[in-house]
Amino acid sequence: MKERLFTPGPTMVPEEVLLEMAKPVVHHRSEEFGRLFAQVQEDLKYLFQTENPVLILTSSGTGAMEAAVANLLSRRDTALVVRGGKFGERWGEICEAYGVRYVAVDVEWGYAVDPEDVRKALRDHPEVRAVLATQSETSTGVLHDVKALAEVAREADALLVVDAISSLGAHPLPMDEWGVDVVLTGSQKGLMLPPGLAFISLSERAWKAAERSDLPKYYWDLAKARSSLSKGQTPYTPAVSLVVGLARSLKILREVGLESLWRRHARHAEATRRAVGALGLELFSHSPSNVLTIVKVPDGVDGKALLKAAQAYGATFAGGQEKLSGKVVRITHLGYMDDFDTLSAVAALERALRDVGYDVPLGKGVAAAQEVLSEG
Ligand SMILES: *Cc1c(COP(=O)(O)O)cnc(C)c1O
Repeated sequence: MKERLFTPGPTMVPEEVLLEMAKPVVHHRSEEFGRLFAQVQEDLKYLFQTENPVLILTSSGTGAMEAAVANLLSRRDTALVVRGGKFGERWGEICEAYGVRYVAVDVEWGYAVDPEDVRKALRDHPEVRAVLATQSETSTGVLHDVKALAEVAREADALLVVDAISSLGAHPLPMDEWGVDVVLTGSQKGLMLPPGLAFISLSERAWKAAERSDLPKYYWDLAKARSSLSKGQTPYTPAVSLVVGLARSLKILREVGLESLWRRHARHAEATRRAVGALGLELFSHSPSNVLTIVKVPDGVDGKALLKAAQAYGATFAGGQEKLSGKVVRITHLGYMDDFDTLSAVAALERALRDVGYDVPLGKGVAAAQEVLSEG
């Protein structure tokens, strides 16, 4: 049986990237590594659509979220947190851990934030220094309007920090053009790599704010990372093998091109959404992201049993988090996926539904997905 990961991290990794990482480890202060690091830097700027440096951190994505808070804010600062799912909530938790006050703009799970609500909150709280937001909220399948949030933040002279951990590469996020101050992501989602690396880029404005930050930091001191980067290095030992794999995955992504990448995610997401409709099931998100499709588990079906049934076919889907536990199935379009992987995901969902006693017409979802995918 073949195992397929349809989870929103980790995602499937191409064999050529895996093989690259299996090579003997090179020294991180060697010229060879320095050359590779310089190329990686160029390719990361392409991916982030920025002229600013992109720092590589050895951590999962959350490490970059923590680094953003620790470097941009100070003890008595106030942030604004957009919360409409587990990852938006995480911004608030990190602020609490650092003693940073925050104003929350709460959004019902499944809905995108109305930028007007953020504008109002910023008017009521002119002391807000940074807006902490999420582009694609992976717990609810919602895509937030980052471009509009950037405008609103700029009006209020606040920084905009965007968690693009699941969305970079799947949705456009032209950092410089939209005026986003901080963009961060992780390796195990859209970048076709195993977990273990995080990436973060700061605008000029964000670097200015970093100069006055008085929150404690050592490993996450981004100024130190920037200073090493100018010598083609990292302050501490990087995850060498992952960076070697990264060089290869970025080469692939660059050859494919951002526009095709966005289109590919859009096609796979649309094919899956149509399949869900054809099977008579419902989507959870009212502003669906192309990162993943979240399907409501039909009444009378045990959501956990459904995931287990899909697992029997080698298809790993993710369940719901927190209040959505057992209530939804999350099917991801990220990573090393082609049309036939998407068709397998739909086929496995159909079979698993039938196995847990929910009668669906086998092949109806697959047919709907085929229609979308065959349009090219
Ligand atoms: C996966 C994810 C995270 C958490 O990333 P880790 O790599 O698990 O630390 C944060 N935000 C979003 C939107 C995610 O999809």
